[in-house]
Amino acid sequence: MPRSSSLKRYKEKRHFDRTPEPKGSVARDKGHAYLIQKHAARRLHYDFRLELDGVLKSWAVTKGPSLDPAVKRLAVHVEDHPLAYGDFEGIIPPGQYGGGTVMLWDRGSWEPLGDVHKEYAAGKLKFILRGERLQGGWTLVRMHGHHPGDHGDNWLLIKERDE
Ligand code: MN
Repeated sequence: MPRSSSLKRYKEKRHFDRTPEPKGSVARDKGHAYLIQKHAARRLHYDFRLELDGVLKSWAVTKGPSLDPAVKRLAVHVEDHPLAYGDFEGIIPPGQYGGGTVMLWDRGSWEPLGDVHKEYAAGKLKFILRGERLQGGWTLVRMHGHHPGDHGDNWLLIKERDE
């Protein structure tokens, strides 16, 4: 399993005796689940998650996805989450990491358009979403000067023009 699939950071940030979030583990099956959780934490954001290598690669989108291809949304790449997180809705107690209310906002599947591991490492991921709210072509592109998983790993989420 590639190092990038570790849930170490996810587990380090949470006290599982104090949060209802799933502990989870790296899954062996290789699917392409996609979901967004609306997270009313200290600051409202949308957690954008794409299943890759048995975990949910995760970005916190500050203002919510925009359907306008001219609008680039800041998407802060955060720690990998377990696949089980995709079913989580509920209240993370105040004082715990991410304290606030988590609600599923969209879910479905995604389809990478290129060599997903190469594109992810290079910081430019093009894909199709098949969700209930979001569909069509999208791009996640890393802003210069960062590497996946770094603190302050800022990407942009951009809608592509569909035919
Ligand atoms: Mn969040």
